[in-house]
Amino acid sequence: MFTLFNDEKTYIDKWAHRLRVSPGRATLRSVRIQECDVLVVGAGVVGLGHASAALDAGRSVIVIDRDERPVGASIRNFGHVCATGQSGELRELALGARERWLSAASRAGLDVRRDAGAVAARSHDEIDVLEEVAAARDSVELIDAAAVRAELGGAGGAALVGGARLTDDLRVDPRTAVPRLADWLGARGVEFSWRTSFLGVDDAGPGRVRVRTSRGIVTAAEVYVCVGHDLDRHFPDLADEAGVVRCSLQMMLTDDPGFRVAPAVLTATSLLRYAAFAETGAAAALRTRLTGERPDLLAADTNIMLTQRPDGGLLVGDSHTSDKTVDPFLDEGVSRLILTDVEDVLGTSLTVRQRWQGVYASRPGGPYLVGSPAPGVHVCAVTTGVGMTIGLELAARHVAGELVATVDSPT
Ligand SMILES: Cc1cc2nc3c(=O)[nH]c(=O)nc-3n(C[C@H](O)[C@H](O)[C@H](O)COP(=O)(O)OP(=O)(O)OC[C@H]3O[C@@H](n4cnc5c(N)ncnc54)[C@H](O)[C@@H]3O)c2cc1C
Repeated sequence: MFTLFNDEKTYIDKWAHRLRVSPGRATLRSVRIQECDVLVVGAGVVGLGHASAALDAGRSVIVIDRDERPVGASIRNFGHVCATGQSGELRELALGARERWLSAASRAGLDVRRDAGAVAARSHDEIDVLEEVAAARDSVELIDAAAVRAELGGAGGAALVGGARLTDDLRVDPRTAVPRLADWLGARGVEFSWRTSFLGVDDAGPGRVRVRTSRGIVTAAEVYVCVGHDLDRHFPDLADEAGVVRCSLQMMLTDDPGFRVAPAVLTATSLLRYAAFAETGAAAALRTRLTGERPDLLAADTNIMLTQRPDGGLLVGDSHTSDKTVDPFLDEGVSRLILTDVEDVLGTSLTVRQRWQGVYASRPGGPYLVGSPAPGVHVCAVTTGVGMTIGLELAARHVAGELVATVDSPT
């Protein structure tokens, strides 16, 4: 789609420099100009959530992503929609997103598993935490060790004492769910421009924003920048004001162990991480014990959990390290720590076939960030590890104008 503007000559000359041709000699053939109601930058779960909501509202939508397909945090994770473990506003967002995943399952043919969370407890202080949450929440169903083993497909280490089913939770295959969401949106009329980088925005006059990309110019009424942890590459002041840093996580994929694990399986360290568990009175005793017995797990800021991919491989993780720029090097000691603990839960040894680093945006001030750095330009990032859990609902509320900005916008 090409739409030309009255002042196209100005833009062509402005772009001539980038295109390495002399001003005045750049031609329309060398500069692509597109027009839409809504431009979304970033084809991760947050960006696609915005695209889907804008499309449902009857807008014409273009999505650009710097890569040829989604390769960010949204495909590097566990695919766990951890609705049961959230509390407060995150719980509301998670329950909304849960409905959106289920709707995508029926509309887009995504494989979304229900009743897909479980906790495998190896100590009675973990059971105490679960009992406290179960007393307040129907979606936590306490189970004995035999039932935990059944959830683990017959596997399970000697230390298991019981656990819980987390029935609000969902599970998707992270390697395929977001790419399939993109395909589905593409089939419904969203235009995708892959390998196209967002470079910045110019004021395009009343009601329009002109966006510079590595493949030309797009003008839109609204622009949603959903680039996850790379927010600071484009809006450094806003990212700094909000305290956004990068959180790096170590992950592994194992060979098929030969048994089928239906739910995403959480362990003791998860109970210190997700608010619904961590906010219980019983969590303090669990933390005290782990501090004494497993300082290594706490030092690596682990959330030891696993999910199974459709081919049987287990996604195993994870650890957390935060900084403005994260080291790209995986620490084998941390990988061993994670793997050994998962092997203890399952009571079997595992063979690792892939290791990778995942990175997401993080900040101390809140679980997500929304703001408007310029008229018609909006940013949205999930700033803790729950983008699969809340991203679709957060995006829908953002497009509907229902979210209060969490960072100041320039006046
Ligand atoms: C290891 C790991 C495990 C996790 N597990 C879970 C889990 O089980 N459940 C859960 O709820 N959450 C989980 N999370 C968190 C979740 O994955 C993230 O919160 C979520 O994926 C963030 O989505 P996003 O769309 O903001 O980012 P991304 O998926 O990273 O997408 C951002 C996109 O922006 C694009 N982009 C960046 N810069 C530009 C540019 N200049 N121009 C064009 N495009 C650009 C990138 O190419 C990328 O495709 C996990 C995260 C990690 C890393």
